[in-house]
Amino acid sequence: MQAIVREAYQQTLAEQDSEHRGVAAFAQAWRSRLASLLDSQTLEVPGWSQITVADLDTDLGWSLYAAAVTARSQAITHASAQPSRLSPPRDAQTSFYEFSIVAPGEHALGHIRYEVCEPCGVGLLLKISFSPDWQFCGLGTLALRQLEIRHPQLTWYTTGQYAHAKGFYQRYRHRSVSPWTERQNPCPHT
Ligand SMILES: [Zn+2]
Repeated sequence: MQAIVREAYQQTLAEQDSEHRGVAAFAQAWRSRLASLLDSQTLEVPGWSQITVADLDTDLGWSLYAAAVTARSQAITHASAQPSRLSPPRDAQTSFYEFSIVAPGEHALGHIRYEVCEPCGVGLLLKISFSPDWQFCGLGTLALRQLEIRHPQLTWYTTGQYAHAKGFYQRYRHRSVSPWTERQNPCPHT
C-alpha cells in the first residue's frame, strides 16, 4: 500500500513542471491520483508484481496518505534557513556565500548560493535550487527574504532565470526594494 501511495505521489510530482501546484492544490491532486489508483481492479507499481486492489486495505492507504500530506506540510511550515557560510572562491573584491533551507531534523530542502560586493552594495543570487518535491511551496520566497534580512545594505540582482521562475521574480519584486532583475552588470566586480 505504501508503494501505491508513493506511486500516486510520483505521478502528481511529475505534473509539477506544468501545473506548479501549491501545497493545498498538490495534496488535492495527489488525493485524486490515489483515488483513481485504488479504483482500478489491478495495479502495476514499479518494483512490484501486479497487485489486485480488492485484496488491499484501502483504509490503510488513506491513513498513509493523510500522514504523508501532514508530514509534507509540516516540513514546509517549519522550514528554516541555516546561517550563511563563506564559500570559495574568495578574492579581494567579492565574497561568496551559501546556505541551506532545512526542514525540522536538518533535512535539506534546498540550497542557495550568492555573491556580495560590499563596496558597490550589490548582492547577486547565483543559484537557488530545490528538488522537485519542494518547489512551488513558498520556499523560494523564504530564501530571497532571508537574503534581504541578512544583508539589508545590499541591492539584489539574480543571474539567469529559468523560464518558469520569471513569474516568481516578477511577483517577488513587488514586495522588495531591490530590482531582482537578471544580471545587468550591476557592478564591475561581480
Ligand atoms: Zn562591485
